[in-house]
Amino acid sequence: MQKEITGMMIYYYYVCKRKLWYFYNEIAMESSNDDVALGKIIDENSYKNDEKHININNVINIDYIKKDNILHEIKKSNKIEEASIWQVKYYLYYLKQRGVITKGIIDYPLLKQNVEVELTEDDEKAIKILVDDIYRIVKENLPPILEKKTFCKKCAYYEMCYI
Ligand code: SF4
Repeated sequence: MQKEITGMMIYYYYVCKRKLWYFYNEIAMESSNDDVALGKIIDENSYKNDEKHININNVINIDYIKKDNILHEIKKSNKIEEASIWQVKYYLYYLKQRGVITKGIIDYPLLKQNVEVELTEDDEKAIKILVDDIYRIVKENLPPILEKKTFCKKCAYYEMCYI
């Protein structure tokens, strides 16, 4: 049965399509790398007073929602990434399909910055194309060809790709 595309898959689509393939096909790797640990520390210590980790149908996993209905995604990255912006646009798209109109903010605690994210009609068209492309990739029998990236050594799938 075809699985629903999740926010994390959208993120991986931009970060690494090979990672996306592993993730969709449930090839899980335990990771103890520093980035994962750092993410947990940020998560546990940021925004203590807000409602956190709202999971909707296991498709979108919102870090927290403020009373004004603005959803927030917390990123530990020290740079603003297109992948995160599209992940949040997908959250907005998914919620809009279910009659909930909202907007999003990506919080970067390490940068002490935040980025507002809204969903346009063009974004909705782009997301439909993106979702089709994700299904095309993940249904291949093998993952996409390895393309070395600067962050491969920090990736949970490093051993799958390089050893
Ligand atoms: S190790 Fe590199 S190429 Fe392999 S899945 Fe991770 S990011 Fe992608």
